[in-house]
Amino acid sequence: MVGGGPVGLTTAMLLARRGHDVHVFEGRDDPRIVPALGGRSISLTLATRGWHAIRRIGAEERVQQITIPLWGRMIHGELGELRFQPYGANGEALASVSRSALTQSLLDHAETYENVHLHFGWRCVGVRTEDGTLSFHADGRAARVRANVILAADGASSGVRRSLLGRPGFSLTRWYCRHFYRELSTPPGIIEHAELDKNALHIWPRGECMLVAFANPLQGLTCTLFLPFEGDVSFRSLASPDDVREFFTSSFSDIAHWMPQLASDFFSEAPSSLVSLRCAPWVFDGRVALIGDAAHAMYPFLGQGLNAGLEDATTLADFVTAYGDDWASALAHYESARRENCDAVIDIAAEHYDEIARSARESDFILRKRLESRLTELFPDELASPYHVVSFTNRPYTEARHTADLQTLIIDRMLAHDDLAARIGSEELDHELRRLAFSYLRGSVPP
Ligand SMILES: Cc1cc2nc3c(=O)[nH]c(=O)nc-3n(C[C@H](O)[C@H](O)[C@H](O)COP(=O)(O)OP(=O)(O)OC[C@H]3O[C@@H](n4cnc5c(N)ncnc54)[C@H](O)[C@@H]3O)c2cc1C
Repeated sequence: MVGGGPVGLTTAMLLARRGHDVHVFEGRDDPRIVPALGGRSISLTLATRGWHAIRRIGAEERVQQITIPLWGRMIHGELGELRFQPYGANGEALASVSRSALTQSLLDHAETYENVHLHFGWRCVGVRTEDGTLSFHADGRAARVRANVILAADGASSGVRRSLLGRPGFSLTRWYCRHFYRELSTPPGIIEHAELDKNALHIWPRGECMLVAFANPLQGLTCTLFLPFEGDVSFRSLASPDDVREFFTSSFSDIAHWMPQLASDFFSEAPSSLVSLRCAPWVFDGRVALIGDAAHAMYPFLGQGLNAGLEDATTLADFVTAYGDDWASALAHYESARRENCDAVIDIAAEHYDEIARSARESDFILRKRLESRLTELFPDELASPYHVVSFTNRPYTEARHTADLQTLIIDRMLAHDDLAARIGSEELDHELRRLAFSYLRGSVPP
């Protein structure tokens, strides 16, 4: 295994449970001894797919101790008004966790498996798929290792994947988001002082920019600012501490004054880019496979990158169980089960940005959401909310993609009706929704 991030560690443990001896080569030092420098301490949300994997390695109780349940989104309006949007009517919740805390907890858990062997400070710089040779830089020295099977879980900038570039038939597409991000935090205790709901994902949608915040275990907030890199209001235009303070005070007035270190934090590091990435194939010579962000990275706005990677891990483990020592078949089935699904969630994640940043405060969006909810009420199975399918089920991502497309077709048609807002829920409008939905669900275009 190359990469000791959450996906690499979870995959290693799933395979170890099936009796395999797994060596994990992690490029960095042990984060429990040498904390990673900046930038990687973001908060993540774990959803159903992620929990499923964590449960299967027996780490649920351990991970629960470092998570905070989130019951919905708290939208902070421009005048400081608050609007809570629950994730569902049946107690659906996400769980927020700091990425570094999660990795450390999984490392502790991996050490309870005697057939998982952790090697830190081993950076993979090349792979020969024909015979399973890996080249590493370790402690300033070059080293080589041979393995029967190589799984590359070394993240969006995967060294293994890089060494495969240029192979005939290997394609890689990357999109960089106009928006970059910067992690910021408030002092501990703000949740109580500012009377914020610690069980909500706080969002300040402001069109071109967005602030997102989670409560952390110190009762402070871990915030992520998403902002274009260039432009009128951008990381580049916020050039001085005064610019930053003024921007926060005007855009996020209800939180800005709780961030005394804002300007110095803001400039302490460069903003990070957001990448969305697809590649094919994921499997080479029946013995090397990409997994997690190394295979598919996506914009973080749907909170699924890690969850999708953990679902890769459980899917792979299931095929390993099914095919025994026939790794070539297990890996081929893993790729065909996962690639199309991950392509689908990459698209949904890109679209979701629009939803939470720009649209969450626009009346057209609110109308769309109400129609979407009504459709889901009328067709709870066939037209379940795509966000619900993605976050709170293990159903294929392609299903969510298909439902999202159908809903867009139906809602676009409904928007032509007059006085829509007042009529949602009326018999007449339900009749029209049913007519359109039945038709599209049958695959025909309604008149
Ligand atoms: C701002 C932001 C917010 C996000 N929020 C969410 C969220 O809410 N929910 C969610 O599900 N996902 C979220 N994600 C995505 C999530 O962080 C990733 O999908 C997840 O971390 C991928 O896990 P991984 O183990 O595949 O890769 P990584 O976490 O990147 O781990 C890769 C590991 O490989 C090591 N490595 C790298 N190169 C080498 C090499 N050459 N040799 C050896 N080791 C190497 C790295 O040091 C690292 O430890 C977010 C991402 C961002 C940027």
